[in-house]
Amino acid sequence: MTLIAVSIWVASEPEVDDALAKARQAAEAGARLVEWRVDALDGDGVDVIAAAIRLIKDSPLPCIITRRPTSEGGMCSETDIQRSAFFGGVANSGYAPKYLDIELASFREDKSHWSTALSNDEKDASLILSSHDFDGRPRDLFQRIEEITNEPACDVIKIVWAARSLRDNLEAFDLLTERKKPMIALCMGQFGLMSRVLAPKFGGFLTFACMDKDDATATGQPTINELIDLYRFDQIGLDTKVYGVIGWPVEHSLSPKIHNAGFCALGHDGVYLPMPLPPEYEHFKATVGSFVDHERLDFRGASVTIPHKENLLRFVSERGGMVDPLAEKIGAANTLVIDDDGVVSCFNTDAPAAIESLCDGAGIKHEDLKNRRIAVIGAGGVARAVIAGLCDADAKVTIFNRTPRKAEALAELFHAEVGGKTPLELDKFEIYINCTSLGMAGGPAPDQSPLPLDAPLDKNTVVFDTVYTPQQTPLIKQAEAAGAKTISGIEMFLRQASLQFERWTCKEAPMEVFRKALNK
Ligand code: NAP
Repeated sequence: MTLIAVSIWVASEPEVDDALAKARQAAEAGARLVEWRVDALDGDGVDVIAAAIRLIKDSPLPCIITRRPTSEGGMCSETDIQRSAFFGGVANSGYAPKYLDIELASFREDKSHWSTALSNDEKDASLILSSHDFDGRPRDLFQRIEEITNEPACDVIKIVWAARSLRDNLEAFDLLTERKKPMIALCMGQFGLMSRVLAPKFGGFLTFACMDKDDATATGQPTINELIDLYRFDQIGLDTKVYGVIGWPVEHSLSPKIHNAGFCALGHDGVYLPMPLPPEYEHFKATVGSFVDHERLDFRGASVTIPHKENLLRFVSERGGMVDPLAEKIGAANTLVIDDDGVVSCFNTDAPAAIESLCDGAGIKHEDLKNRRIAVIGAGGVARAVIAGLCDADAKVTIFNRTPRKAEALAELFHAEVGGKTPLELDKFEIYINCTSLGMAGGPAPDQSPLPLDAPLDKNTVVFDTVYTPQQTPLIKQAEAAGAKTISGIEMFLRQASLQFERWTCKEAPMEVFRKALNK
């Protein structure tokens, strides 16, 4: 079983009580070990050891004592001789911690410094022999592992580095798979989350977590609540299937919340993670290819978002996989599926999700879209999917866009009409669909509606805003005030996710669970 270790900074004796209280909270939240980061614990030698002993003695959980030097990314500026005296004092105090974390580089320098610490009376304290690289994957990674493994005093191997890309996680997984002793292999930074969450799948000894993001002792460390509630860390095992959202950026994606909640509700042995991947196709091809081909990752699918929707189509075509005809026609796919034999296929669930949301929200049947006059505002990726779905249903679509040539290109492709920049009063439509990013929080114009204030909206008009953050966009407010029927982009978002979920699990998506997860 992989343990969750909460890592807690303690910089001075007066902080000890607060730190112990934090550890008690962490134990209640699910931590099974505490790492006391006493790098910066200050005072004369006796006081420092006394403070550390109080942490060990009153610790609600078995503990690791770490006093990381600055040379290894920590905050302790003492010499190795001073640090080893500290460890020796702590380990032989009669209150030895469960583990001492000592760095390979210091150990290598002069092993004899550490003999007092390691020959503690009943050998109560085991040794975690660690190595860290904050610049990237160490060039001598394998030599370091071999050296740590072959050190007789070492009980637990620890190797941590700053991931340069998602692919570094695979190397951490391979190291864990081939380990000869209990091992911690973790990647730091935005690309390293997978190594932290999937440690149980590969038999990692522990993963580190924090109580609050502000307390993290390394970049990319998740909180205990994220590990347990969002990623269901306790359920992850050897056969757990891996899914994710691939995009750039993806850290604010709502998809992990809903898909993980869905997997939990249906008892599907899967975990869904954010997978940040820089824009270029070469990144996409190399990373997704290595995930699909990895023998033990069990990578079974992904939601693919900006800027990779076209890349997904190309990737699946180049691998000789199956490209859904609708995705082909739209020129973009948002869903990757990998079957038991590693065969890839891709789909576009945005288009059917948009049409379903529109029909349900407007209270009309799919066939009733035929010949309806519909204004689509925007000519980007979402507009493309929406227009493809509408034209497939024989609706009469007019496209409005800030950049007319983009509207013209789409109109030609899908046999639609081109309007101006915004729908004007003379041109009254039954349905207006916003596919621009106007009104989106954090977007180019969060307070702006894509329709003029005097747009001819009334109770016979339907307004569908594909923007879903926030759900009450300026357009939705304007339409509600005019008495029009409104449809929020959240409906499309949930439906495109449910269609993905069904592709991956072959089970109906639990929509109510999805909705609840979003509002959590
Ligand atoms: P995109 O490809 O970048 O297209 C953006 C569109 O917005 C373009 O038509 C662009 O016009 C227009 N636009 C941007 N800033 C503008 C401004 N200041 N004034 C006028 N027009 C402006 O983005 P996308 O992928 O289509 O996404 C568009 C929106 O859809 C997103 O903001 C998001 O909220 C929403 N969305 C919803 C879902 C869902 O499931 N409900 C899924 C994905 C996205 P130009 O062509 O002139 O640049």
